[in-house]
Amino acid sequence: MARNPAALQTASTATAPLQDVVVIGGGPAGVSAAIYSARKGLKVTLIADRIGGQVKDTLGIENFISVPQTTGQELSGGLQAHMNAYEITVKEHLKVSKVEQGDIKTVTLSSGEVLHSKTLIVATGAKWRELGVPGEKENIGNGVAYCPHCDGPFFKGKDVAVIGGGNSGIEAALDLAGIVKSVTVFEFMPDLKADKVLVDQARQRNNITILKNVATESIVAANGKVNALVYKNRDTGEQHELPLSAVFVQIGLVPNSHFLGDLLELTKHGEIVINEKCQTSEAGIYACGDVTTVPYKQIVVAMGEGTKASLASFEYLLTNGEQLDKAYAQMQAASQELA
Ligand SMILES: Cc1cc2nc3c(=O)[nH]c(=O)nc-3n(C[C@H](O)[C@H](O)[C@H](O)COP(=O)(O)OP(=O)(O)OC[C@H]3O[C@@H](n4cnc5c(N)ncnc54)[C@H](O)[C@@H]3O)c2cc1C
Repeated sequence: MARNPAALQTASTATAPLQDVVVIGGGPAGVSAAIYSARKGLKVTLIADRIGGQVKDTLGIENFISVPQTTGQELSGGLQAHMNAYEITVKEHLKVSKVEQGDIKTVTLSSGEVLHSKTLIVATGAKWRELGVPGEKENIGNGVAYCPHCDGPFFKGKDVAVIGGGNSGIEAALDLAGIVKSVTVFEFMPDLKADKVLVDQARQRNNITILKNVATESIVAANGKVNALVYKNRDTGEQHELPLSAVFVQIGLVPNSHFLGDLLELTKHGEIVINEKCQTSEAGIYACGDVTTVPYKQIVVAMGEGTKASLASFEYLLTNGEQLDKAYAQMQAASQELA
């Protein structure tokens, strides 16, 4: 069963007792996985750089079903409070830097601490790909936005821009066009990458303008609010300033999967390939939420996926428990011999 017997060598460095489940990530997916696992009476540790994950960066949330309106801070607080109601060991402000496969999984933290677990749930989410222009980072939440479903309604009746002419950019423009006064799409290349069917729909909307071969140079704000976008026409080299209230950046998401190296099967975009039970390419390692191939990256989707990953890992523990206990006993004996 063990794919990497070398992982046994690290046994002597672990300080914490063997865990049934180690969850990496404290966003909606990871917290959901940890709570479900704790409710099964399992020994659970959750490691997260930031409890709340992307939710912490969200101003208002209006699509968390059954709660008509909340904020990112409130929902993150709710995630933490719900975890506090269970026996879950939480290690916040720490990153996992390495994972080694074996019957018993070995997880190394940024602090140097080493944990061993029978199963792993990877819920490390994703970050929006940023444009990297002046005025972007400084104005996130004040007119620079990445999620049209989430933040579009805050700009009802206003002029906005979408950066990116791929499928997500044109879908965002169509989504926003029903709410805002006007949408200008900025595509860097001479042609749009989006599917023709989406582009045709966009061309039929009289409040969507598509600009191609243009480079966004900076986002301008006054009194803490975005009020213009500066761009260059790449054909002529001319610079323009477009007055607007919001800029939606739609140039893709970057999954937080780099720390896994080549341990798990990933897509070319870095998403962890999972099946309908959140199983990865490696036995006993599950993944859920935005870091995976699951479509539609949303809070309620991530929570549901965390639940599935936890229940699937529980099934694995029921089936393989005895064998895993034996593997751990062997691992300890081997480390004692080494000492
Ligand atoms: C600005 C913004 C607004 C949004 N608004 C909405 C909205 O209104 N409604 C909605 O449904 N969705 C919204 N989304 C999308 C939603 O936030 C995500 O789909 C959801 O948070 C995904 O959850 P997750 O748990 O998979 O990942 P994340 O929320 O990304 O959480 C990942 C977790 O993993 C941790 N982590 C990452 N790498 C490591 C590592 N190496 N070691 C340890 N920990 C690590 C992070 O610290 C974090 O705790 C928004 C996203 C953004 C960015």
